Amino acid sequence: MSSKVKFINSYEKLGEEYFSRTKIEAFDRPELIDVNYELAAELDLELNDQEYLEYFSGNKNFDSSVISTVYAGHQFGSYVPQLGDGRAHLLGEIENIKGETFELQLKGSGKTPYSRFGDGKAVLRSSIREYLASEALHHIGIPTTRALCLIGSDENVMREGMEKAAMVTRVSPSFIRFGHFEFFTHSKKPEQTKILADYVIDKFYPQAKSFEDKYEKFFYEIVIRNAELVAKWQAFGFAHGVLNTDNMSILGLSIDYGPYGFLDNYHLGFIPNHSDYSGRYSFGHQPQIIHWNLYALANALTPVLPLDKSGEVLQLFGAHFLRSYIDLMREKIGLKQKKDTDKKLIQDLLHILAEQEIDYTIFFRKLCDYRINGDNSEIYKELKKVDIFKEWESHYQKRLLQEVWPDLNKNAEKAEEERSMQMKKVNPKYILRNYLAETAIKQATFVQDYSEIKKLRKILQHPFDEQPEYEPYASSPPEWARGIELSCSS
Ligand code: AMP
Ligand code: MG
Repeated sequence: MSSKVKFINSYEKLGEEYFSRTKIEAFDRPELIDVNYELAAELDLELNDQEYLEYFSGNKNFDSSVISTVYAGHQFGSYVPQLGDGRAHLLGEIENIKGETFELQLKGSGKTPYSRFGDGKAVLRSSIREYLASEALHHIGIPTTRALCLIGSDENVMREGMEKAAMVTRVSPSFIRFGHFEFFTHSKKPEQTKILADYVIDKFYPQAKSFEDKYEKFFYEIVIRNAELVAKWQAFGFAHGVLNTDNMSILGLSIDYGPYGFLDNYHLGFIPNHSDYSGRYSFGHQPQIIHWNLYALANALTPVLPLDKSGEVLQLFGAHFLRSYIDLMREKIGLKQKKDTDKKLIQDLLHILAEQEIDYTIFFRKLCDYRINGDNSEIYKELKKVDIFKEWESHYQKRLLQEVWPDLNKNAEKAEEERSMQMKKVNPKYILRNYLAETAIKQATFVQDYSEIKKLRKILQHPFDEQPEYEPYASSPPEWARGIELSCSS
């Protein structure tokens, strides 16, 4: 059976300083909660449910060499010299028919030499959250690791109380983090940093090799990818929650879902993690934190790239972030042409949303149906002070009329319909609100009913579609769920 999936492990070739060979701690009585068959198809995986259950709970082994990797990282601003895959096991890489490679990694699969004081386990609650979030972000168009399947168990683990353990199989072209580079440079192994950089460049940034300084180009690409990533988080209202440098992907992907949250009401100060007392990782701080993390990476890359060079590259971050963010927001309000005044128009709207505590996703989805001379009462209903919005609306109208709509004079209705359709492709109707995840978690935890997880995954795989049968899943949180606090224990 194991020959059905062919694994290689190119990371292993870097040498033993980069990882440890580790053993998966299988669940005795695993339960298959969900398989993401849509992703399985992208990977050309042909396994049945029984095989998913056995292989991804550690009860059967693929013909692969399992490893856990070492890394370090800045956690809440302080450097921790050694972290690593404390509860994750890399099975290796597979290749699909298109020639794309993906690493498969189990999370919650037992202790490793990097577990420190941890038990190597992950709880069901956090595994469900990771499983659903990565799918939700991917389908919105935000770069992220993915999740292939979710396995439950009857094993008890101690967190804030007793909870059940679970395992998620994660999928990514690579799980290498900024922290991998930090580990080698700060433990005075500059040659190892160079080997790692060459590996990542060869495999993921080969275009950098044709530049005079491939390391500069490599760093440039990482800066750009991360500026674009955080622009998307800001535009779609996602707060990661724990942006330590060990949770930063070298490929610019969202990775390690813990106490994250999507915005309900628009609020820059939104802090999803209730142990983030200072708000270091609040929604509004994310761009500057990513910049800080890139600076930490620049420091870790000094064995291949001097700081004066990386510093110059880093200076491009701010402008690139802002440009990407404004471009996304411009699309969200239905504008195609770029005008200097757009930034202010967008800022003014966000100011109104913040002041009036308006649901971010619902508002933008309703704005998709805005009509210049039509009935906009559905939008007004979302607002607490309509007069202030109407002032903004007068500028918005003028701006919309500056757009070159095909035959606007002849067929304004058609042009507005077209704008509305375009807007609905960038303003999701369905996001993974905390209360939705919470409902799925409660059912799974208390009555072992996994149907809500499957249902949510399916809904979130089509975030821009109307899906009228799931209308309630597009609502703002009910009273019981307002201000749910998320623990970072997982
Ligand atoms: P995180 O906050 O989940 O990104 O994890 C930070 C570090 O702690 C990483 O090195 C993890 O592998 C490790 N870690 C987190 N939880 C556990 C656990 N239950 N057992 C072992 N290591 C863990
Ligand atoms: Mg982590």
